Amino acid sequence: MARTIEVPDQITVGALADILEVPVTTLIGELFKGGVMVTVNEKIDFDTASILVGELGFDVELKAAAKTDNSAKKVAYKLSDKAVSRPPVVAVMGHVDHGKTSILDAIRASDTAAHEAGGITQHISAYQISHNGRLVTFLDTPGHEAFAALREHGAMLTDVVILVVAADDGIKPQTLEAIRFARKAGVKIVVAINKIDKEGANPALVKQQLAENDLLIEEWGGDTVAIEVSAKQKTGIDKLIDMVLLVADVEDLKADIDVPAQGLVIEAHMETGRGAIATALVQQGVLKKNLFIVSGSTYAKVKVLESTDGKAINEAGPSSPVQIVGFKQLPEFGDAFKVVKDEKTAKEIASKAKIKSATSLDMTSTELTRIMNRRSEVTELYIIVKADVQGSLTSLVDSIKTFDSDELNVNIIGSGVGSVTENDVRMAQTSGAIIYGFQVGISSSVRALAQREKIEVRLYRVIYELLDDIKEELTKLLSPEVIETELGRLVVKGVFKISKTEVICGGEVTKGKLQAPALARVKRDGEIIAKEVVVEALKQGPQETKEVQEGEMCGLSFKTESRVEVHEGDHIELFTREIKQRTL
Ligand code: GDP
Repeated sequence: MARTIEVPDQITVGALADILEVPVTTLIGELFKGGVMVTVNEKIDFDTASILVGELGFDVELKAAAKTDNSAKKVAYKLSDKAVSRPPVVAVMGHVDHGKTSILDAIRASDTAAHEAGGITQHISAYQISHNGRLVTFLDTPGHEAFAALREHGAMLTDVVILVVAADDGIKPQTLEAIRFARKAGVKIVVAINKIDKEGANPALVKQQLAENDLLIEEWGGDTVAIEVSAKQKTGIDKLIDMVLLVADVEDLKADIDVPAQGLVIEAHMETGRGAIATALVQQGVLKKNLFIVSGSTYAKVKVLESTDGKAINEAGPSSPVQIVGFKQLPEFGDAFKVVKDEKTAKEIASKAKIKSATSLDMTSTELTRIMNRRSEVTELYIIVKADVQGSLTSLVDSIKTFDSDELNVNIIGSGVGSVTENDVRMAQTSGAIIYGFQVGISSSVRALAQREKIEVRLYRVIYELLDDIKEELTKLLSPEVIETELGRLVVKGVFKISKTEVICGGEVTKGKLQAPALARVKRDGEIIAKEVVVEALKQGPQETKEVQEGEMCGLSFKTESRVEVHEGDHIELFTREIKQRTL
């Protein structure tokens, strides 16, 4: 009897190979025979998977699994009556350059529990401060729109959003986007009207714009708290945190501590000597050193537990951001983690999740149709993407995918966290891919290999510069646009010379105006007798002229490639042709 296996409506080739217990190359080879080029990480749809399984002669029946809902939602835990209060988790969002980083820095500097002197330059994805004896956790969500995915996850983790609006710039697209995210996730908003020290600052206008977007501030009778601050002069920051706490108090935030610890991974990266490190937010329970945790398809024994400023700690309760050392592999950003009883259980759950997670990836896009529809008219740009941390990689890949159109596709043949490796170069070699790196390096030997093999490696530190580069490459692949503009028409009244290569004739301009040089077609009784000739000169009397108006007489000479027998009464239609490189 056929084995029945549940698969989602899209599945990666690698995951399908896992399920079928065949080498992934078997599947890639079979798909290739059918004219479909895929890589291990590419998704195919349910139908293709079914056909593939049939074609390979497996006694397996695939069953479509129910779709998963991936929309941003606040994680809701069932609380017991023993639940205790927990600190609020706050994200700072807003338009680029409105001062998110500056506000986060100012808040961190105001930390009454911080002992270290000196400026804060190091980027951390989360930190906790103590304010008048109360703890507040802040998530640092990068600003550029490319990080939409990350911000969305941010909203999922968050109790309160500080919406930063620059008083001299007002509400902008990313401000609106942040408002939408917060609303979608059911998160309270506290507005920080920033840069009030600046000339041209107009807090009243910002308040007006907020009202227009259904955020009526308290002083105008609404319930939105808006604080005027200057991150630069560090004014209003204390009040801002007070207000965040006040808003959070209304929410009565609680968590259980007598349950196995769980939370979400908010960043993951590799560190030399320490291996995979995850920054995570504990949401329930108390995470302790030496416990076993599972996250997605990987697990860890918590070898080292640290606060996000690098201090070793033994345990961390709800709303604490922590760094965890000990993962076998990099956990995925946005994945939940949970403490389990021992290593054996951790291993088991992780390996089961390996198959499951690979088969329940985000299925919203119809990537396969895209692959299946890849015919010759679709031009592809092959790239490999490397990034420093999983979060930026996810965001990058998401952003790059939005560049796809009916005409152009970006085919990400490989992606990963970490520096550019020899393997990446080898992979690029077979497909002619460009390697893009975001906040990663390349060793000199790999660089030399790439140069030898003429593989382009482009490293960027700024995300939108990387995205712009890809756009530019895509633009180069766009077929140019041909613009033909009609100029005017001449009716032939006399023919003076016809040779194999040249015709000289004369006539009257009956439409538009003539110009030279120009292109022309010759028509007789509506039929084309010469498709394209080159008009070299126009003459009025003995004088050459550049332009002849409608109603005037002129002489006209054109070059041809074969003899054209022009007659009296023929029409010569002049036009220009411009070839324009299109932009995306
Ligand atoms: P982000 O892109 O939202 O993170 O914005 P940044 O924090 O990087 O700030 C963008 C620019 O605005 C930087 O040049 C900051 O120095 C400046 N800036 C931020 N806050 C203030 C402020 O309160 N007053 C003034 N005058 N400039 C500010």
